[in-house]
Amino acid sequence: MTGMNDPSCNRREFLRNSAIAGSPLLLAGARAVSAADAPGDWFDRPMRWAQLTLVENDPATYDLAFWLDYFKRTHSDAACLSAGGCVAYYPTKIPLHYRSKWLGAGDAFGDLVAGCRKLNMVVIARTDPHAAHQDVYDAHPDWIAVEANGQKRRHWADPEFWVTCALGPYNFEFMTEVTKEIVSLYKVDGVFSNRWAGSGMCYCEHCRQNFRAASGLDLPRTNNPQDPAWRAYNEWRQQRLFELWRLWDGEIRKINPAARYIPNTGGGALSDLDMEKIGELAPILFADRQARSGLAPSWSNGKNAKEYRAAMGPKPIGGIFSVGEEEAYRWKDSVQSGPEVRLWALDGVANGLRPWFTKFSGTLRDRRWLPVVEDLYGWLYRNERYLRNEAPLARVAIVYSQQTATYYGGAQARAKVEDHALGYYQALIEARIPFEMVHDRLLDPAHVAQFKVLIFPNIAALSTAQCGQIRAFVSGGGSVIATHETSLYDEWGVRRADFGLADLFGASFDGALDARMQNSYLTLETDRATGKRHPILAGLEDAERIINGVSRVQTRPHDASPKSPLTLIPSYPDLPMEEVYPRVAKTDTPEVYVRELGKGRVVYFPWDIDRTFWEILAVDHGKLLRNAVEWAANEPRPVTVTGPGLLDVTVWRQKSSMTVHLVNLTNPMMMKGPIREFIPTPPQQVTLRLPDGQRARKVQLLVGGVTPRVRETNGSLSLTIPSILDHEVVAVDF
Ligand SMILES: [Zn+2]
Repeated sequence: MTGMNDPSCNRREFLRNSAIAGSPLLLAGARAVSAADAPGDWFDRPMRWAQLTLVENDPATYDLAFWLDYFKRTHSDAACLSAGGCVAYYPTKIPLHYRSKWLGAGDAFGDLVAGCRKLNMVVIARTDPHAAHQDVYDAHPDWIAVEANGQKRRHWADPEFWVTCALGPYNFEFMTEVTKEIVSLYKVDGVFSNRWAGSGMCYCEHCRQNFRAASGLDLPRTNNPQDPAWRAYNEWRQQRLFELWRLWDGEIRKINPAARYIPNTGGGALSDLDMEKIGELAPILFADRQARSGLAPSWSNGKNAKEYRAAMGPKPIGGIFSVGEEEAYRWKDSVQSGPEVRLWALDGVANGLRPWFTKFSGTLRDRRWLPVVEDLYGWLYRNERYLRNEAPLARVAIVYSQQTATYYGGAQARAKVEDHALGYYQALIEARIPFEMVHDRLLDPAHVAQFKVLIFPNIAALSTAQCGQIRAFVSGGGSVIATHETSLYDEWGVRRADFGLADLFGASFDGALDARMQNSYLTLETDRATGKRHPILAGLEDAERIINGVSRVQTRPHDASPKSPLTLIPSYPDLPMEEVYPRVAKTDTPEVYVRELGKGRVVYFPWDIDRTFWEILAVDHGKLLRNAVEWAANEPRPVTVTGPGLLDVTVWRQKSSMTVHLVNLTNPMMMKGPIREFIPTPPQQVTLRLPDGQRARKVQLLVGGVTPRVRETNGSLSLTIPSILDHEVVAVDF
């Protein structure tokens, strides 16, 4: 770990900051009240972010006073403002740094910074280095990205621009000077770069030479993750980007020790920069997932929050949401329905994001979003003390793995890796089980000790050391649920002879995979000795068999006479209809392994139950996924919510309170937006466990604005929420 989390380090930086606060360099440019003047870091202060992304002609047409007034009315306490990169919005003196043609003698960026400082807002500057004009091309053709065929790359959306190389001198030299100039002139609290990490593979002379010097190899011309050059490139590219991050951060801190470089980066299993390293480097991060597109459930923004938090821990994470459409056609200057914007932002808030609205273009052509954000931010402002979370109280976590997506999933990562996680995610939402996510490179006790259950949805690629950490988690009393090919590959996606976790599963790999099963089923088994079924089959009492998944790993049980609650009914013909009857009515082939190992429990499904659930959403699979968690947890939930509808339930601890968020996802547009209207839920019964030793002093419903009638028994509170329109928060003061 870096020293960033070390309080003594923060203190040192503060002292250094104070010592040079009078330096003439820092007095240059517009500043009224700087967040850096406050003691300590600024990172934890902002709760409501505002971003105005200027377009080139805004300096001539946008209404500065309107925007500053809107920031004030929304109680926004931090702003991200467009400064430079492909277009400069201030009078830059750096050669080739293109000034907006509409800037004239003005300083649009400086005016906004000065206004925001008067509102006591944190201010970070936005740069965008991904594109450059013809004069840059003419002066430094080597700064431009090169395609595999050797052609320099024109911008795909605007042919006036060229795409720049992220890993060469354009970023390392030119953008370093731009960054330094912005921080020197305006003493901003940070620089946030959009599209700083390149736009796909670059074959320019710098990339070719630097990669060869680092690896002895030529740049790969394949996307096969098992190709040695591709693997070397993937690692080298990340090192180069982290080098760039450290360079810009270091130069920024030399000018303003309280300021930071904050890249627009991060994400889940499909993101391409190592989240473990990002979590070490970043004191604050922003999840740039602006809205839904295509088929995406309304809980997706909460998932972003969980993925970022897995790496960031308690450090603040902004959740960027757009007021506009976020589809492939990129109507960036559009406005979505109010309920869609609101629900997206609320699910982020319920999951710990600090909301950040973004608007592209300062000249408004559709004002319908303004009251939506103002209303939302007003509520957030009034309830801020219940939103300053210290820790989630969830006891369950889904593990995600970038190395599994990269080296095992490759080009099929979405189907082979992410769809498994999405399926388990949906099942936990339906079951109203509060949960977190965990990064697979952070399976040490400091990151997982707060959990009782870790879920591995086809986390195929795990190192021997990671398997050791999982084993230690179970021997310490933790429980594990794993599916499909979990641990069958090493961290580079190379298949092992047997599962890395075979001893936990009580099963070994039997050498083959049934990649696509057609018309296969599962027998629900009853224990012959007791006449009872395993609790993992709860809710399926009236069923003898259910549908199987689509893909299964062939396994060999370690136990000579295994008792599995689910056994295989192999595929049989599904046509002609006359032939649709089982050829093998029953087998002893286990399709789930359930084991008690000391205080820990292990559930292993050798098939793709989670992925199939995402594809088919069969209710029986959802019950199995839920029951597996309930049985593995073997303890009461931190919060139980019963009543009709679909809710995202999260539970949090603050300094002297706890909260339960309930986001109402009950909507015909839950899987595909935009939401037209909210459908109020019928009454919900909530029972929450108080943390040990805490007594409830006061209980409120922060949205309904009422004090509910509460029953307190054995450290638990029970209450009824009459109805939830979009969101409710049960807040308990200690
Ligand atoms: Zn390059």
